[in-house]
Amino acid sequence: MRGGLRAGKIEAEIRVKPIMYKPTTQEIEQLYQKLKKDAESGGYHLNPDEKFIKELVEGLLINQNRFGYQACPCRLAAGKKVEDIDIICPCDYRDPDLTDHDACYCGLYVSGKILSGEKKLKSIPERRNSSVPANAGQKVMDGLSQPVWRCQVCGYLCARPEAPETCPICKVPKDRFERFM
Ligand code: SF4
Repeated sequence: MRGGLRAGKIEAEIRVKPIMYKPTTQEIEQLYQKLKKDAESGGYHLNPDEKFIKELVEGLLINQNRFGYQACPCRLAAGKKVEDIDIICPCDYRDPDLTDHDACYCGLYVSGKILSGEKKLKSIPERRNSSVPANAGQKVMDGLSQPVWRCQVCGYLCARPEAPETCPICKVPKDRFERFM
């Protein structure tokens, strides 16, 4: 009887552990700083609303603890990496959403126009599982799933639906990219 109660208690603790996990302020700050640094070095921008961003960062840490990977905090994850691979942050939909809507679905990443105040952040429609492919609007050459863009200044090449807003190597803006393939 005692053993059964004990086992039941342990089982309950294990089941609720992922939900009970709450990242510390220090963990949130560390991941926030890392995302900020990575974004800046890669030509991306984090949303300037730090309080809002830290709530998303907390969600990423909770998902890391729950699933073992940082599933998008704004989407329902299946809990299997192979099924969630497209929504591990930064998700497959970030760049096309930045191009079309100036922000990713969660609003973690924003365009330079949002950052400068030239545009206002609006709600972003869900692109995942919609009929709109990630590379909508692009004519893709046979055999390539995505167009290839070349930075005309430093020669950096990348295959993605749109040229990046800023070259991650030499930091020139999008208009310095040409369609390579
Ligand atoms: S929508 Fe934004 S926060 Fe969510 S996974 Fe994509 S890039 Fe990350």
